[in-house]
Amino acid sequence: MTVVDDVREVIEEVRREVSTLHSELVRYGLVVWTAGNVSARVPGRDLMVIKPSGVSYDDLTPSNMVVCDLHGKVVEGEHAPSSDTEAQAYVYRKLEHIGGVVHTHSPYAVAWAARGEPIPVVTTMCADEFGGDIPVGPFATIGDDSIGRGIVDTLAGSRSPAVLMKNHGVFAVGPSARSAVKAAVMCEDVARSVHLSYQLGQPIPIPSSSVDALYDRYQNVYGQR
Ligand SMILES: [Zn+2]
Repeated sequence: MTVVDDVREVIEEVRREVSTLHSELVRYGLVVWTAGNVSARVPGRDLMVIKPSGVSYDDLTPSNMVVCDLHGKVVEGEHAPSSDTEAQAYVYRKLEHIGGVVHTHSPYAVAWAARGEPIPVVTTMCADEFGGDIPVGPFATIGDDSIGRGIVDTLAGSRSPAVLMKNHGVFAVGPSARSAVKAAVMCEDVARSVHLSYQLGQPIPIPSSSVDALYDRYQNVYGQR
C-alpha cells in the first residue's frame, strides 16, 4: 500500500483536472515549448499534482502528471516534477485556502515583470478580477524557497490572485486550479490592454471607491447563482 492508495479516486480526478487545464494555457497563448505549469492541491491531504518537467504540452496526460508532497518530494509518478514544484509547494504550505497555482511566461505580463512595474488598475476587468493593481514580487532564482516566499509575501498585501515575479513571469493562485488558470488568462489580457493604452497616451486611473465596488460586484454578484 502506498501513501496515496486511500485517496486513489481523488488523485485520479485531480490528475485528470490538472492535465486538462494545461490545454487552456496553450489555447490562450500563455506558454511556449514546455514552459509554464498548472498544479492543484489534493483536497484533504498534504499532496499536490503538478506537470512533469520538460514534457511537451501535446504529450501531457493524466497518467504522466506527478504527485508530490508539500515539500516538493515525488510521491507518485514516472517523471521528475516541474522545476517550479518547490515554489508552488511553498504556496500550498503557507496559504491553506489556495487549491491551485499556475505559472506562465505570458509575453505581455512578462514585459511588465521585466520592468519591475505593477500593472495599474485602469480597466474595469482589472478591478473585477484583481481588485487593484497587479503587484510585482521580488527577483528570485529557482532552487530554494525564495520564489515561493516572494509570491506569498507579495500576495499578502493585495487582493490580487496574480503576482508578476520581477524579470520572470506570472504566478496565479485560486481556491481551485481552474480559478488560478482563469487569473493567469485575465492577467495576460489586462497586461496587453494596459500596454496598448500606454501606446496611445496616459491611461486614466479608476478611483479606489469604484475599484472596490467593481471588485465586490464581480466577486459576489456576477455570473450564475
Ligand atoms: Zn518560470
